[in-house]
Amino acid sequence: MANGARDDGSPARPPHVAMLATPGMGHLIPLAELARRLASRHGATATLLTFASTASATQRAFLASLPPGIASLRLPPVDLSDLPRGAAIETRMSEETARSVPAIAEALTKMKETTRLVAFVTDIFGTDAFDAARAAGVGRRYLFNPTNLHMLALLLRLPELDATVPGEFRDLAEPVRLPGCVPIPGSAILSPLQDKGDPCYRWMLHHAAGCREADAILVNSFDAVEPEAAAVLRQQQEPGRPPVYNVGPLILTETDTKSSPRAACLEWLDRQPARSVIFVSFGSGGALRTEQMRELALGLELSGQRFLWVVRSPSDQGAVSDNYYDAESKEDPFVFLPEGFVERTKDVGFLVSSWAPQIGVIAHEATGGFLTHCGWNSTLESLVHGVPMVAWPLYAEQHQNAVMLAEGIGAVIPVPEPKRKETVAGVVKELMAGEQKGAAVRATVAELQKAALEGLREGGAATTALAEVVEKWAT
Ligand code: UDP
Repeated sequence: MANGARDDGSPARPPHVAMLATPGMGHLIPLAELARRLASRHGATATLLTFASTASATQRAFLASLPPGIASLRLPPVDLSDLPRGAAIETRMSEETARSVPAIAEALTKMKETTRLVAFVTDIFGTDAFDAARAAGVGRRYLFNPTNLHMLALLLRLPELDATVPGEFRDLAEPVRLPGCVPIPGSAILSPLQDKGDPCYRWMLHHAAGCREADAILVNSFDAVEPEAAAVLRQQQEPGRPPVYNVGPLILTETDTKSSPRAACLEWLDRQPARSVIFVSFGSGGALRTEQMRELALGLELSGQRFLWVVRSPSDQGAVSDNYYDAESKEDPFVFLPEGFVERTKDVGFLVSSWAPQIGVIAHEATGGFLTHCGWNSTLESLVHGVPMVAWPLYAEQHQNAVMLAEGIGAVIPVPEPKRKETVAGVVKELMAGEQKGAAVRATVAELQKAALEGLREGGAATTALAEVVEKWAT
């Protein structure tokens, strides 16, 4: 029974949705937001399943802040000690899911006994968990793509690209052209596809096949940000491809950061003029090399603009995604800044170590720009709040996001290569105050903001798409 009352006259239990968030705040945050929307608009409850490997303080605090109808359950640890030390994050996340299938099946089976479990949702790296959902007899299985339609188009075409691209993507003379998508230079294609000999490449192919096992694919994007890709996916219903629903932008709401004590960086923003500050952040895991960090610092100083920078210790010894699992700096990041920088910029700059209440910062009226790694959550948060961006992508699908945002709709100004203090200062100034590109990007982002908010209203595209998905629970 979907709605109404049970046979004995008691009210029906609310529909319950189990969601598997593979490691990374960029997966957990939008899934939690999906849970919130299902709760507030459709009376559902949800359980977020998380992995033992990411029980960071940041994640714990986030889970603790969720409303009562959204529970979380940490899966038991699995042994990953056989993986090489340098194994890619995509390999780690995929292995952890595959090895957790029995535990996920058990958790879902128990959940079925105590809730009206209607659906299971996983992000892209968790497709093996569809086996667990099937074993537990969960009626509907959805893939949640926390990035965009460009990424989905790439994933859906991956088997074909694997068969036809002879060498490495980065060596391609021509950009990769996918239907409805901005042509992406091979070197900007998703980073786990850049080395065919690395196990993470095989894992992506595996997930590309896994996508097709879903009853539907929910994407955290909206039509205005990639209109042609949206049109193509809607028109072309290829056999074997699940229906695709654009349910975004699902982002954290600002109220989440209104708890006390108010962060010092927000208090600092309170004292700055409207739209005068550029926020600088590389997501939950991004870290720069020392040299790049210095050029960025000196570039911000040279730009003369106010800035708020989330600083992480550099990544010289490891990968640019080094902090991905815990979002926390490995060392005191401030000691790596150029000598005298902190003192010279103390009147215009504010530095935060490792983690800031980003949504509060972006929503603040003093914030007028965002120098971002182009992680998709950060991008959506910026668009929803009408904040134009400078693009400094690092890994994952960030480079292709930057291309699509720059060349597709013109919502970002990329930092030109080589990234030097002069180039950084130039693009930061242009974004904040420039009359050419800067003005165009600011106007485009204002339009995208309107479209994003429109879609989330009653009757808007995202709201309607999610309602269509939910309607099927009754059948
Ligand atoms: N985030 C935050 N504070 C930080 C860095 C990141 O609150 O200091 C949040 C940010 O608002 C976003 C998420 O973490 O919701 C990062 O996701 P994104 O897709 O942008 O990047 P990823 O972390 O996956 O690289």
